[in-house]
Amino acid sequence: MKKLLILGAGTAGTMVANKLSHVLDLDEWKITLVDEHEIHYYQPGFLFIPFGIYGQNDVIKPKRDFIPAGVELIVSKIEMIEPENNRVRIAKDNRYLSYDYLIIATGTHPRPDETPGLDDGQWRKTIHDFYTHEGAVALAKHLRNWPGGRLVLNIMEMPFKCPVAPLEFIFLADWFFHEQGIRDRVDLTLVTPLPGAFTKPRAAKLLGNILEEKNIKVVPEFMVERVEPDEKKLVSFEEEAVEYDLLVTVPVNMGAEVIAESGLGDELNHVPVNKHNFLSDKFDNIFALGDAANLPTSKAGSVAHFAVEIFIENFLRHIDGLDMPHKFDGHANCYIESGFGKGILIDFNYDVEPLPGKFPLPGIGPFSLLQESEMNHWGKMMFRWIYWNVLLKGKEMPITAQMSMAGKWQ
Ligand SMILES: Cc1cc2nc3c(=O)[nH]c(=O)nc-3n(C[C@H](O)[C@H](O)[C@H](O)COP(=O)(O)OP(=O)(O)OC[C@H]3O[C@@H](n4cnc5c(N)ncnc54)[C@H](O)[C@@H]3O)c2cc1C
Repeated sequence: MKKLLILGAGTAGTMVANKLSHVLDLDEWKITLVDEHEIHYYQPGFLFIPFGIYGQNDVIKPKRDFIPAGVELIVSKIEMIEPENNRVRIAKDNRYLSYDYLIIATGTHPRPDETPGLDDGQWRKTIHDFYTHEGAVALAKHLRNWPGGRLVLNIMEMPFKCPVAPLEFIFLADWFFHEQGIRDRVDLTLVTPLPGAFTKPRAAKLLGNILEEKNIKVVPEFMVERVEPDEKKLVSFEEEAVEYDLLVTVPVNMGAEVIAESGLGDELNHVPVNKHNFLSDKFDNIFALGDAANLPTSKAGSVAHFAVEIFIENFLRHIDGLDMPHKFDGHANCYIESGFGKGILIDFNYDVEPLPGKFPLPGIGPFSLLQESEMNHWGKMMFRWIYWNVLLKGKEMPITAQMSMAGKWQ
C-alpha cells in the first residue's frame, strides 16, 4: 500500500481527503488525516457571532461528519515532521506515521503572544478578537453591554487570513451600533499597516469610500510595536499612539509551530512552495495546501478550494512520475459583508486585481463584482450551507478553479 498522509483536517485537508478518496484506488492507497481537534469550525461565521447574527453553535460540527469512508482520521497533536525519513511523529502514543506523500494543511493561526502587551491583563476585557471561536463569543458578550466610546479595530501584520474580514467587522459594527441606537456615541477607527483599506487599488478605493460614507476613520501605515493595555493605547514603531476604549484586534497570524520545529517554514511558519503547483521548495513528496502555504494571494477558504482542484489534477500525474502542467493562478473569490443587508463580491488572482462586472454568469450575475448589492449579502449568507454541504465534502461547484475574465469590465 502507498501511504498518503494529510496533516490538518480543516478546510483544505478535509476537502482534499474527500476528493482524493474518490480518485485514488483505495485498495492501493491508504489515506490518513491527522488533526488535534474533534470540532470543525466554520471560521467565516466567527464574523457574525459578536453581533448576535450567529450563535456560538452555528459554526461548529464534528470533524468526523466530513471524513469519507476509507479515510482514517487520527485525533492527535502533530509533534514533528521528519522529511528526511518520510515520517511524522504524533503525540498520541508517541507514534510515528510513515508516508510516501505528505500534504501539509495545518493552516495559520492568530498569535496574540507575538505583540508585547496584547495578551497581558486586559485580554478579553478591553482587548478582544474575533478570529477564534472563544474570542468571537467573548466579544459578543462584551458588546451586549458596551455603552459606547472609541472602538479601534486593528490589523497587526500582513499576511493574515481573510484580509477582508476586518473591514467586514467594522462595517457590521457600524450597522450594529445603529440598530442599538448608540451609533452617535461610538467612534469607529480602522488601524492598518496597509496604505489604505485593501491591498489592490480599485478595491481599496471602493472600500475606502464606503468607510468614509459610514464615518469610519482610517489610520493607515501604522505598524504596532506594542500595546499599553493599562493606558489603552496602540503604539507604533515611530512612537505614535492611537487610544481606544475597546480594542478589537487581528493578531499576527502564524503557521503551526510544528512547521518551524521541523525546519519547513519561513519566518511566519508558512511553508515555501511553488505558487502554481504547491510542491515544497525542498522535498519532491511534500505539498502544502490552504493557509499553511506561503502563496502570494489571500489566505482564504476560496483559495484553498480552487487550489485543491488544481492540486488533484497535478497530483494524479505526479504520482505516476509525470509533469504537473496545471498552473494555479492565485484565484480568490470573497464576499464582503458591508452592513445593512448589503455586500460586495471580489474575484481576482495573482495578476488581475478585483474588477467590476457580474459573477458567475457574464452580464447576468446574479452577483455584482466590486459593487454593493443585496444579492451579494445573500451570497455570503448562503455560503455557510454551501461550505458544509458541498465544499467540505469535495463536491463539484459551478465555478472554475482558474479565474475567468468573462463578465469582468476592464
Ligand atoms: C473571522 C474569519 C473570517 C473568514 N472569512 C472568510 C470568508 O468569508 N471567505 C473565505 O474564503 N475565507 C474566510 N476565512 C478564512 C478561512 O476560514 C481559512 O482560510 C480556511 O479555513 C483555511 O483552511 P486551512 O485548511 O488552510 O486551515 P484551517 O481550516 O485553519 O485548518 C487547519 C487545521 O490544522 C490543525 N492543526 C494545526 N496545527 C496542528 C498540529 N500541530 N497538530 C494537529 N493539528 C493541527 C488545526 O486543528 C486545524 O483543524 C475567514 C477566517 C476567519 C478567521
